[in-house]
Amino acid sequence: MYTDKNRDTHDISDLFQTVLSDTKVIKETFTSALFFMASMEGECLTLREVGGVRASMLETISHVQNGLLDDRFPNEYNGCIIDLIEIELKTYNWCGYLGLVVEGKTNHSLNGVRSFLLGFKASVEMTANYLDTCMRDDKNSETQQPSHMIVNLLEDTDYEINFSSLQHALIRSIGGEDLEVELTLLVLEERRELYIPQQSTASEVIDEQRRFVIRKDDLLQREVVLKEQLQGRKPLFEAQDIYSDFMMVPITDEQDMKSLLLLTNKGGRFQATVTERLFTIIDKIRPLLFRAYYNEKKDLERKRHQLLLQVTKKFHASMDVGEVLGEIVNVLEGVYPQFSIDLLLSHEWKVQADLPVSQLHYGAVSGGAVEKAYLTGEMQIEDVITSKHSLVYAPLRGKQGIYGVLKITSPHSMVFPRHEIEFIKVLADTGGNALENAELYQQSRELIHDLQLINQTSQKLNSNLCLSDTVGFMVQQISASFHAQEVGFIMFESNGSMTTLEGSTRFFFTDVPTTAIQRLSEKIKIEKDSLFIGDLSLDEPYVLGSYRSVLVVPMIQTGDLKGMVVVMHENPYHFTFDNFKLLQSLIHHSTLAFTNSMLHEELEKLVITDRLTRLYARDYLDQRIQESMEQDAYGCFILFDIDNFKSINDSYGHQVGDDIIIQVANIMKRNSRETDIAARWGGEELALYLPRVEPTIGYQVAERIVRHVGKETSPRVTVSCGVSNWTQQDTQKSVKRLFNIADQCLYEAKETGKNKVIMGESEEQVES
Ligand code: GH3
Ligand code: MG
Ligand code: MG
Repeated sequence: MYTDKNRDTHDISDLFQTVLSDTKVIKETFTSALFFMASMEGECLTLREVGGVRASMLETISHVQNGLLDDRFPNEYNGCIIDLIEIELKTYNWCGYLGLVVEGKTNHSLNGVRSFLLGFKASVEMTANYLDTCMRDDKNSETQQPSHMIVNLLEDTDYEINFSSLQHALIRSIGGEDLEVELTLLVLEERRELYIPQQSTASEVIDEQRRFVIRKDDLLQREVVLKEQLQGRKPLFEAQDIYSDFMMVPITDEQDMKSLLLLTNKGGRFQATVTERLFTIIDKIRPLLFRAYYNEKKDLERKRHQLLLQVTKKFHASMDVGEVLGEIVNVLEGVYPQFSIDLLLSHEWKVQADLPVSQLHYGAVSGGAVEKAYLTGEMQIEDVITSKHSLVYAPLRGKQGIYGVLKITSPHSMVFPRHEIEFIKVLADTGGNALENAELYQQSRELIHDLQLINQTSQKLNSNLCLSDTVGFMVQQISASFHAQEVGFIMFESNGSMTTLEGSTRFFFTDVPTTAIQRLSEKIKIEKDSLFIGDLSLDEPYVLGSYRSVLVVPMIQTGDLKGMVVVMHENPYHFTFDNFKLLQSLIHHSTLAFTNSMLHEELEKLVITDRLTRLYARDYLDQRIQESMEQDAYGCFILFDIDNFKSINDSYGHQVGDDIIIQVANIMKRNSRETDIAARWGGEELALYLPRVEPTIGYQVAERIVRHVGKETSPRVTVSCGVSNWTQQDTQKSVKRLFNIADQCLYEAKETGKNKVIMGESEEQVES
């Protein structure tokens, strides 16, 4: 252990305070911290608080001084974390402790405090070495005291190692000594083949930024840059006409020339002595400038990160594309107030009106750079020197595609800050992802809606609707879902004809051009595939009134083509391809239920009709009379029997006999109403039930039919008939009794000469 009495504690304290001058990082890490330096004996030599100090922290230090704490560090004490490490400064010939007390253990870990203190120790050592070299150089040079100057500079900047204040302080200190020099500092950074101005102490230089761009090729030798005033040579940059004298110093480390500091004198020429002195000073404080410059850049980077965080937070908090894009534009406008921002989107999105959004018209883009950014997904930057302003096109990329382009235009005097490309890229990608998410969300919603529609339709169809209700329901679903104007269900019959199902819209029953429908059906029959027609007017053979958008989907059941569904709208390209696909799956899912419903209906008809005469069957007649007796007040029943039918059969054969029965049946149909029920009773006996018809009217109907049969049949036959009736007042009313009375009357008619009507008496008449 040694302590050099030549170096007093004042030097150590200075060093300590210099290193701590840049407190920004500390403030960001700790809300409240106390740094101190202590001698080997534990005596506190100097301390500095950051962010306000608590009594408990000071108390902790006094405990260290008094040797009250045990020697395990880092440790907790009194609600604080304290850490202490040894440090040896050879150049100062000094050895002691560096210490740090932070408040509360809730926010920090012991390890975190230790690593921070280690970093701090390294800075102290580095700075000590650096200041020592400066000191030694000072002794050798008679004219300059750069280390003195550094201290002055730091005092001038209030111990903040910050480039902007440092460069101003530098100008002040030089200008203060030599009034003939009106110094301007300019930092240039290497980007590809150019050195591009980044910042300057003079606003007019920033405004004229473009005129200071230097081609890398023109800087042949580093030495030349450093030592010579480049007078007489070809100008390095445009603005040299005004800023004729300049010098350049790399402000990165020795080998690297990533950044250059350009000093120019607008006032006039540098005198040789001034130049020499400037070089010496600048060369000395270069490490400081370097550190300050990169500190500042890091700071900027941190700020950018915070902004990105802000945007990503928005992105995760909101499904609203408008909000995310708005935040991106906000951030960009905040960071580059002089630049103009445009969003070119490939789809139309609903966003706030004040957002600079326009549609990206593919193919209609002028320069090609937008297109290139959109197609390749690569950022495009238009050249700095040749064009009047810088343009950046950043693709809005998602994981599955590119959704547009972010366009940033710099004003004509500005050069685009290329070190920010990465920042912009991340912003643009966030936008791309937001658009992609929104699109996927939209798609999934549509998909769910489609599935719901199909599900709902199938359920409804399975609930045993009658055919016309089924068609009506489907027509209604399709009209509503696709905003269709006409929907037709057309079935293909086995004989080649077509039937439009009841429930289809009116157009298909009234003014439909049959040839066009015929052609459509032929096409469907051949191709067995759906048709998507965007504009019918371009497709001559299928003119369908004024309708121009047409979808045709075949109804196929277990490989058999059953029919087709035609959906139409007057506007061309009314239906989307998604509509088309949804219609296909809707029809596909409903065809089974549909054909089932049709089969069922056919089967029912088959059961209730007589095959020969197409009159109703006997069972159906029974059932209908039963129903009528429950609902109506009265009704009439007529029973017919063809006279001497045996001899017809004998003379003409059964075939003709059958035909006679059909002729009589048709006469019955023609002479009765829709609501009457004409049936085949059995053999050559036919019956007609007239609900809500009084006996006198029934009698007339029977007579009329008898008359017509006698005249219109060929070979001519006659019929006999018996008529019975019922009313609600009948005490013994029954279907059976109604039949029996008619049968008795028929018998009577046969017995009394045939070709006549005999009317049964009603119950009251019989009783009275
Ligand atoms: P009547 O005037 O007394 O009724 O004399 P009829 O010859 O018509 O005698 P009846 O009603 O007893 O005989 C009916 C005959 O009609 C018996 C049968 O050969 C014939 N017949 C019954 N059903 C059919 C049928 O579906 N087709 C044909 N061709 N003949 C039938
Ligand atoms: Mg008979
Ligand atoms: Mg007969």
